[in-house]
Amino acid sequence: NSNGTNNHPQFGPKLLNGDQKSDSFARRQKIEQQRRSLPIASVEKRLVEEVRKNDTLIIVGETGSGKTTQLPQYLFNGGFCRDGGTIGITQPRRVAAVTVAKRVAEECGVELGQKVGYSIRFEDMTSTSTRIKYMTDGLLLREALLDPYLSRYSVIVVDEAHERTVQTDVLLGLLKDVQKKRSQKTFSESNNNGTLVKEENNGEGEGSSVSVVKPHLVRKLNPLKLIIMSASLDARGFSEYFGGAKAVHVQGRQFPVDILYTTQPETDCLDAALVTIFQIHLEEGPGDILVFLSGQEEIESIEGLVRENLKKLPEANQKILILPLFSSLPSEKQMKVFAAAPVGFRKVILATNIAETSVTIPGIKYVIDPGLVKVRSYSPDSGIESLIVVKTSKAQALQRSGRAGREGAGKCFRLYPESRFEGLDDSTIPEIKRCNLSNVILQLSALGVDDILGFDFMEKPDRMTVIRSLELLYLLGALTDEKKLSDPIGHQMARLPLEPNDSKALILASQFDCLEEMLIVVAMLSVESIFYAPRDKLEESRTVIKSFSSPEGDHLTLLNVYRASLEFLEKNKMENSKEKAEKNLRKWCKDNFINSRSLKHARDIYNQIRENVERMGLKISSCGDDMVPLRRCLAASYFLNAALKQPDGTYRVLANGQIAEIHPTSVLRRAKSECIIFYNLVQTTRNYVRNLLPQLSRFSRPIPTEIDSGVLPTPRRKFVNTVRGSDFPEISLDDLAIEFFSGKGNNS
Ligand code: ADP
Ligand code: MG
Repeated sequence: NSNGTNNHPQFGPKLLNGDQKSDSFARRQKIEQQRRSLPIASVEKRLVEEVRKNDTLIIVGETGSGKTTQLPQYLFNGGFCRDGGTIGITQPRRVAAVTVAKRVAEECGVELGQKVGYSIRFEDMTSTSTRIKYMTDGLLLREALLDPYLSRYSVIVVDEAHERTVQTDVLLGLLKDVQKKRSQKTFSESNNNGTLVKEENNGEGEGSSVSVVKPHLVRKLNPLKLIIMSASLDARGFSEYFGGAKAVHVQGRQFPVDILYTTQPETDCLDAALVTIFQIHLEEGPGDILVFLSGQEEIESIEGLVRENLKKLPEANQKILILPLFSSLPSEKQMKVFAAAPVGFRKVILATNIAETSVTIPGIKYVIDPGLVKVRSYSPDSGIESLIVVKTSKAQALQRSGRAGREGAGKCFRLYPESRFEGLDDSTIPEIKRCNLSNVILQLSALGVDDILGFDFMEKPDRMTVIRSLELLYLLGALTDEKKLSDPIGHQMARLPLEPNDSKALILASQFDCLEEMLIVVAMLSVESIFYAPRDKLEESRTVIKSFSSPEGDHLTLLNVYRASLEFLEKNKMENSKEKAEKNLRKWCKDNFINSRSLKHARDIYNQIRENVERMGLKISSCGDDMVPLRRCLAASYFLNAALKQPDGTYRVLANGQIAEIHPTSVLRRAKSECIIFYNLVQTTRNYVRNLLPQLSRFSRPIPTEIDSGVLPTPRRKFVNTVRGSDFPEISLDDLAIEFFSGKGNNS
């Protein structure tokens, strides 16, 4: 091998044999060369200098210029970790944190989890030696609970700030404050007597106190360096928010991209995307295709369709490699999109919005953009949050088309007419304007911020949304009348890395001796699509899935699946090695039409939440086969999501009168109950409720016609959750919950 030299450095922890050694050497050389050719490489020195000079710096640069992977390495080499500090880089998405950390560990030639690591909810890949740490923005917020000065970090990089997720916005406000506190908390090295003096502002705004501390107790806190990175070229908003902070621009490399529109609006986006994939494949030159889809289900369904249609093509045209990319995909699978396709093959990457700016995939020449994206949406009228598919903004459409021009001229196929583009919003509305804020309020309260409306947000959330979110927290018993966290429920809820309803369900379940089961239910509910029903085996899959289904609804069906899989695994482990047992489990999943990816993910989440509740000292016991306590706890935690059946078989969501259908995957699709509590509301072209708990017994007393406002703690707007102008009498949700729950707080 021409690369083989005798004294090249040994990389990686493992001893490699000769061949592997030169392989890895060649690979490292290639990586080095890639790194050097990135647009950001030419400004390394200048960037490090700017960070040294400015405590807050905004870096703007086109996607793919090397911000996320390179800047932390530049700072590390520039000495920003010298005194033991860590460089933390936050990402809005878990997938990005993981894939980028892997890439950077490889670039540095270190084992993941050592110098370079990542930490996301339910997964920690760091150690005491980690100095470059990628994480989700939500995770850093949680760390602030335990370490209000974020003292282990010398630099924090808030990446993808243009996405303006709610966690990013909260984080920006918090970091601004931490930075201020850290610069006030000054330690003078020594005074005349040679003792160390600590001046500390106690944070309550009551002036500073001076105390003498022993030298070995002093850990010097440097000012916090803050870097905001954004792919949107307009840095003004960030700069103003950070008191006129300096913004630098990293020149990207962008080749021309031809934009093509359809002549007519498309009615079926999936079909249009499918047709376009094949059109490109058969008519255009070589180059990989990136398709933007709204979620795992769309991706899996197109994946199946492409495979089906591929078989119909002549052998020579079948060289397509289909690669899905979405958040809950196991990371080995996620990494596959970065590898080059075998010679002669064309990669078709089916991705969620993650590929818009969060990860840069090499080799893309064609982009297919149906112009849609799935986002959180919240209506303060009802207090219900849902996922809806909406049109992208102009800025998003431009980002997406930009993905085609990274390495050469490309083409972007927008699956809508040009006239529609003109009508799009310029940029995306920050998430804080369109989501439920209960979780944010909990987190901020735990950090000592009680006045959320007074918090220094870059963009203030709507007052009504705040009020509604506060109400939900009251209803769940997390806040006192003084808007403080209640003891113990509020504090416990703030400690759990879950949505408030889920946390409440776990806490209640611990009181009602069914936490073991609730852990499983919450874990299973947090993954997408446990079951899969391939088109060609629809009937067979339905029959098999039925064997798990419970007349008590989807929650209990999910519990059955989990229990059955566990039983299978345990039995198998007695006779087989762990690996073999896991392999058999995957086979078992396949036979039972269960998505083994999703089940594995649920098991990981279960273990993590279990650890969390154990650490909090919650009692974990099982209710065995008696599902009544479990159902009660579910009802008492999710009662806001109640819906009543209408004469035509659809359901009316009590909180806002919206009409929804039962999702085809629900076990209650046929056996319809008068009243249900749903876990998710999904809006596509139709509204669907999914993961349903049915009402089993009839109401024991007449449905109330007036709202009894005495049931709940005072300062709250009257909680009007009535079905107005319908065939149904008025009913308050609180009463409904009590019906389900039969006896609030009554442990008998
Ligand atoms: P930015 O943050 O400015 O968008 P990145 O630092 O994410 O840029 O990406 C820089 C380059 O690194 C891109 O060209 C991308 O293709 C490459 N890259 C990033 N992650 C990987 C990976 N896991 N495997 C191979 N190449 C990667
Ligand atoms: Mg990036």
